[in-house]
Amino acid sequence: MWIDTHAHLDFPEFSRDRKEVVARAQAEGIERILLVATDLASSRTLLALTREQKILAAAVGIHPKSAHAAPPDFLEQLDALAVQEGVTAIGEIGLDYHRLPPDPTAAAEKAAQRRVFQAQLGLARERNLPVIIHQRAAWDDALALLDEAGDAVRCVFHCFGEGPERLSELIGRGHFVSFTGIVTFPNAPLARASARSVPADRFFVETDCPFLAPVPYRGKRCEPWHVRIVGEEIARLRGESPFAVAEATSRNARAFFRLTD
Ligand SMILES: [Zn+2]
Repeated sequence: MWIDTHAHLDFPEFSRDRKEVVARAQAEGIERILLVATDLASSRTLLALTREQKILAAAVGIHPKSAHAAPPDFLEQLDALAVQEGVTAIGEIGLDYHRLPPDPTAAAEKAAQRRVFQAQLGLARERNLPVIIHQRAAWDDALALLDEAGDAVRCVFHCFGEGPERLSELIGRGHFVSFTGIVTFPNAPLARASARSVPADRFFVETDCPFLAPVPYRGKRCEPWHVRIVGEEIARLRGESPFAVAEATSRNARAFFRLTD
């Protein structure tokens, strides 16, 4: 009944037991897992994985930290992938100014990130695909580029850890957010406050596995079935039943990513 809207099952952490990890998720009531790409090679791997198991869907895209390494023809390559069956979104794309090397490298890298992000937003609009946004330490620039891209691009800010003020900036623009295991961390009051107050029709749940395992698994390898723990914590925060949160977040994710059975 839960949908994990953000998993990295192509990462080496899962190379030994990926099939078991997916089976465990199914046994725990996870109905879909959206695999999210970080570069062109990862996009291809994820597409191949979706062919193997029906529970999996894929997003294709270039992560901001991989933007500087994108080949000159990245957009053509990505477009060829975006039109394939099993692709439900462009992602994860965006801006990440955290821990950049000192200038002038930082300036060049920021420019590359913005260029690759903008190009992918254009592709999403053209192919009518929703977008999964990765944003870190680049809030104003990310919003400016999204505003420029216009209303036609539907966005979810993944791993949302900002507070209610920034949340309302996104909601007001028609965007969505999704929450990870961070909402179970006692030292994450902003994410928890946002999870409490977000409108029921504007959010999803995710794991971002293998990272960000929720309490009590914090620090261990995260897996898609942990999305249930994330959802149960959000239910507690909101004073709702886990069933209601599962139903709402799955309905939202199905509509946003146009998932079919
Ligand atoms: Zn991710």
